Amino acid sequence: MKVVTDLEELRAARKQLAEQVGLVPTMGYLHAGHLSLVAAARRDCASVVATIFVNPTQFSPEEDLTSYPRDLSRDLALLEEEGVDVVWTPTPEIMYPPGYQTWVTVEEISLPLEGARRPGHFRGVTTVVAKLFNAVQPQYAYFGQKDAQQAAVIRRMALDLNFPLEVIVCPTVREADGLAMSSRNTYLNPQERQAATVLFRALRAAQTACNKGERHAKKLRLIMRQTIETEPLAKLQYVSCAGVLTLQEIEGEITGEVLLSMAVFFGKTRLIDNIVIN
Ligand code: AMP
Repeated sequence: MKVVTDLEELRAARKQLAEQVGLVPTMGYLHAGHLSLVAAARRDCASVVATIFVNPTQFSPEEDLTSYPRDLSRDLALLEEEGVDVVWTPTPEIMYPPGYQTWVTVEEISLPLEGARRPGHFRGVTTVVAKLFNAVQPQYAYFGQKDAQQAAVIRRMALDLNFPLEVIVCPTVREADGLAMSSRNTYLNPQERQAATVLFRALRAAQTACNKGERHAKKLRLIMRQTIETEPLAKLQYVSCAGVLTLQEIEGEITGEVLLSMAVFFGKTRLIDNIVIN
């Protein structure tokens, strides 16, 4: 496994790789969710490139950029075990050289849900992912359903900008008790960690109601909200029942595929989760 930092080194390593190349972008502090993306890339592609970069432009000033967990040597050991060919660990100076002023923005689908609560977040994400696509030139790029809106925004960007690659979205990997794996779970104290199982319980409660015939989006949102409210340590930021393609909130009855999603605070830690129901 080659570990490279400079763009020139990355380009030289890329030239040596057998086609097709699969890219797995991450911010590091890897868990089984990240590794499932690597495993999918390993299955589909002759070569796998993983990137580790805590992208400053997708954090707003009050968010957790400086405290974001990092453990490069552990991450590299895990990626080596998974059979990754090249790991690119660029610095902020490489990604954003002095005088930097070029941004990629995807419009409508960046606006609701996470976009409404984290202004500028998706501009940072799409800009850095476009730069990763340009540098690595993969034929396949792997993202997690855990960040459903991010995957949708990146898929839109890849289509709109004619990136010659396929975006593959992999299922959310969960802990045994249902909590979606996240590098941010490490911020939770033991009481909060226990309480955090309420996100998946809320999603499942809405899914169960839907399976029993509940079709009103408003009622499904209410069920999720009420489940979250049973947990005293949980502070709900939003619940949503939206069209899976448009991400627009549904007001009447649901039809077809629907994205149930939410963001919940436990102290300062903000967790998101979602499921797609049919
Ligand atoms: P991050 O390091 O949090 O930026 O995540 C890197 C990639 O891993 C993104 O495409 C995420 O959607 C994906 N990912 C994060 N957590 C999970 C999970 N629990 N299951 C599947 N994919 C995940």
